[in-house]
Amino acid sequence: TTKQLIMSEKLAAIGEITAGVAHEINNPIAVIQGNLDVVRSVLGAQADEAKVEFRLIDEQIHRISQIVTKLLQFAKPEEYAGYVERHAPAEVVSDCLPLVQHLLHKAEIKLIRTDSATRLVLMNRTELQQVAVNLIVNAIHAMPRGGTLSIGTQDQDFEGKPGVALDIADTGVGMTAELIGKIFDPFFTTKRQEGTGLGLSISQRLIARQGGGIVVESQPGRGTTFSIWLPEAS
Ligand code: ADP
Repeated sequence: TTKQLIMSEKLAAIGEITAGVAHEINNPIAVIQGNLDVVRSVLGAQADEAKVEFRLIDEQIHRISQIVTKLLQFAKPEEYAGYVERHAPAEVVSDCLPLVQHLLHKAEIKLIRTDSATRLVLMNRTELQQVAVNLIVNAIHAMPRGGTLSIGTQDQDFEGKPGVALDIADTGVGMTAELIGKIFDPFFTTKRQEGTGLGLSISQRLIARQGGGIVVESQPGRGTTFSIWLPEAS
């Protein structure tokens, strides 16, 4: 449709600009990091007096590099495309849970898993992990006062094609239909400083590249379910 066409042209333009800016940011960041290390070693034992400040600077530099990496990945996904392999989605989920364990614990979130999928999907493992982590972290952010995170996989056909569905459901703040209309837009975030607004748009692209899709169902105040569908690896 025309709307989709305009959207994809916009995305291409944003992609070009973003890739340029991200590359430009990488160099000064490397210079700052390098000089910071020099300052620290010149100060020697005295550097300990500014331990907290140094750690803050390190953390923030790390955060900038992470944002830049995300931006580059968003802008030039083809340069980041890895090898695709056959995976059981449930196993990939298990691999990324240790990364979010402390967040689940801190927010007092109960995890329920129901895995019945027997089929395998074709995707780059790191990318599938990244999508799962994005959705899980979003679910955790949606439950600041605790709740239940349900992750399930099951064999599911879509338009006559065999595949696997991976559902990630939270009992969090939920979303209005209007909000849902915006969440896959690049840079759209309701998280101010904390968010980049790139998680869902990158996830959607990575999944679409493997011939799959992401759908969302939500009720304000009740919770949200993101469902990923991927075709079965033949
Ligand atoms: P970010 O997390 O950096 O904001 P995303 O693209 O991952 O970027 O998400 C965009 C927005 O979608 C979030 O800012 C939030 O408003 C909304 N969102 C995503 N997942 C959920 C969820 N599980 N529950 C409620 N809102 C969500």
